[in-house]
Amino acid sequence: MAKQKALTQWSIEDSAELYGIRNWGAGYFDVTSDGDVAVHPFGSGSNVAVSIPELIRGLKERGLDLPVLLRIENILDSQISTLHESFRKAIANLGFKGEYRGIFPIKVNQQQQVLEEIANFGSRYHHGLEVGSKAELIAAISQMRDYEACLVCNGYKDEEFIDLGLHAMRMGFNCIFVLEMPWELSSILSRAEQLGVDPQIGVRVKLAAKGSGHWAESGGERSSFGLSLSQIMDVVDTLRSMDKLHCLKLLHYHLGSQIPNIRDIRTAVQEASRVYAELVAEGAAMGYIDLGGGLAVDYDGSHTNYVSSRNYTLDEYCTDIVEAVMTTLDARGMPHPHIITESGRATVAYYSALLFNILDVSTVEDGRIPSEMPADLPEPIKNLFEAHRSLSLRNVQECYNDALYYRDETRRMFLDGRVSLRERTLCDNLFWGIIKGVAALKDQLKHIPKDMEEIDVALADIYYANFSVFQSLPDAWAIDQLFPIMPVHRLNELPSRQAIISDITCDSDGKIDQFIDPQGKKRVLDLHPMNNGDDYYLGAFLVGAYQETLGDLHNLFGDTNVVSVRVYPDGSYEFVREIQGDTVAELLEYVEYEPRRIMEDLRSLAEQAVRSGRISPAERFSILQAFELGLRGYTYFES
Ligand SMILES: *Cc1c(COP(=O)(O)O)cnc(C)c1O
Repeated sequence: MAKQKALTQWSIEDSAELYGIRNWGAGYFDVTSDGDVAVHPFGSGSNVAVSIPELIRGLKERGLDLPVLLRIENILDSQISTLHESFRKAIANLGFKGEYRGIFPIKVNQQQQVLEEIANFGSRYHHGLEVGSKAELIAAISQMRDYEACLVCNGYKDEEFIDLGLHAMRMGFNCIFVLEMPWELSSILSRAEQLGVDPQIGVRVKLAAKGSGHWAESGGERSSFGLSLSQIMDVVDTLRSMDKLHCLKLLHYHLGSQIPNIRDIRTAVQEASRVYAELVAEGAAMGYIDLGGGLAVDYDGSHTNYVSSRNYTLDEYCTDIVEAVMTTLDARGMPHPHIITESGRATVAYYSALLFNILDVSTVEDGRIPSEMPADLPEPIKNLFEAHRSLSLRNVQECYNDALYYRDETRRMFLDGRVSLRERTLCDNLFWGIIKGVAALKDQLKHIPKDMEEIDVALADIYYANFSVFQSLPDAWAIDQLFPIMPVHRLNELPSRQAIISDITCDSDGKIDQFIDPQGKKRVLDLHPMNNGDDYYLGAFLVGAYQETLGDLHNLFGDTNVVSVRVYPDGSYEFVREIQGDTVAELLEYVEYEPRRIMEDLRSLAEQAVRSGRISPAERFSILQAFELGLRGYTYFES
């Protein structure tokens, strides 16, 4: 698209369409008339917008370098309200008698700042928390101040975990233990008896229903978590025999994350509602049905059932759920439960963006090709010369095949010593010359042959970006997840280059070469040529879910700087929190070095160098200063 547009005037509308920002941005992101990406913290219905390049300038003035993870508090606030308001609307429209109780599964982003904001923004809705380990439980309790909100404990629970949850109950928290394994029941009952509390118990059921998508394996009968129906019946029988059926309060399931198809969501909630009704019929107290996570994020903006999208709106999601629960229970004349969902991804994804700069670009260069064919060339190179000269729309495929064949032939002859280095260089130049010619012609072909589709990737520029995929976008590396990535300025200029992105780790996997596209995915991203010396900034958006704690320290690149922005209705904003990224010393400590020891060793190494006359004492002083500064510095490229 960019290429065809080159002849006419490129506008911000073209950029908006090319990068799909209005499709995936959910109203939170758009392009300004100056060609900048702006955040619309109050959604598309409001005029308030903050330009991202302006935020970057503000950060740089404050001495905070890129890469930086930008959090926009208002978006988190808005996502929580939207979720609750959507459920409220569905509940009111359908005349459902239970309430909606959202909870945030903290594994999706456990950062203290994030939990604090969720506890704060969620308090007006009694938004609770879900935890899956002892550490998460303690983190949750430290932030929660709402005794009505649910505190759901999933995960494998040893006695210490159980005791912590029971103590939380004794302090007034609405803590519910969800059984992941049958043996947890007896520990919970005996610890509860010792501490003199009646526990609230839930069961996680393995449904027959399964989702599709990346994480489908966490649902279904063969999923590794949860109880089979017969194990649930054993739990009921045990509780009945101990006169404790009043402790069984909740039925839980989790289909997996990012369920793109509403049909899977509907099937699962129908099945779970049936199980719920049967538990009520067995005499369990019940009161909560907990549908787990799965509410998807439309990363590519295509509104389809593709893995990086979803084919439903939030309103449909809420209505379908409330309706399924209600219909099933009404058929049995049973009271309506409170509905819990554990939306993690959809709650936090939108609120963070990773901003980074481009350090350098490498392109496939135009090699020198003489206008006259030199005499005495080896046969295959002569043929390449001929193919290069005769390339036209009529013989694209033939020249393409020749290019590959005679290049390989020349390489073989080079190995045998029959082709010189100079001749081989000419071969490479001719080869790439032909490939570039083919690339320019191929779009005019009626059918683009499969093997030519890869040409764009082979010819793509490599933009070297100042971040680590492993630290900041681990799911892009581990499971090929797509995130919207685009320049955050110059959007009124034609992005005339096609590129892939390489990070600054020295790992060949540290790259991004798949990009969102309404038709599936793109192999190259349209970017602007670098203007000498000017900064070029890109953003990876919708990165608030899962990426922070899954990230690792590959090549010892650490946490990036983080900054939180709060925007006010009059359009003013403030940087409310700055968290400095890891320093080199902190990174070294993670892998068990002691920065003090390192400095001591360096001091004596430098002293030896003085003694052997390699450096002067004054040079020793400045060298040691440089190392001290290096240890305190940012792990990323500093400008
Ligand atoms: C991971 C997880 C979630 C979060 O799912 P999302 O799709 O991110 O909303 C919810 N519940 C449980 C039990 C989980 O393991």
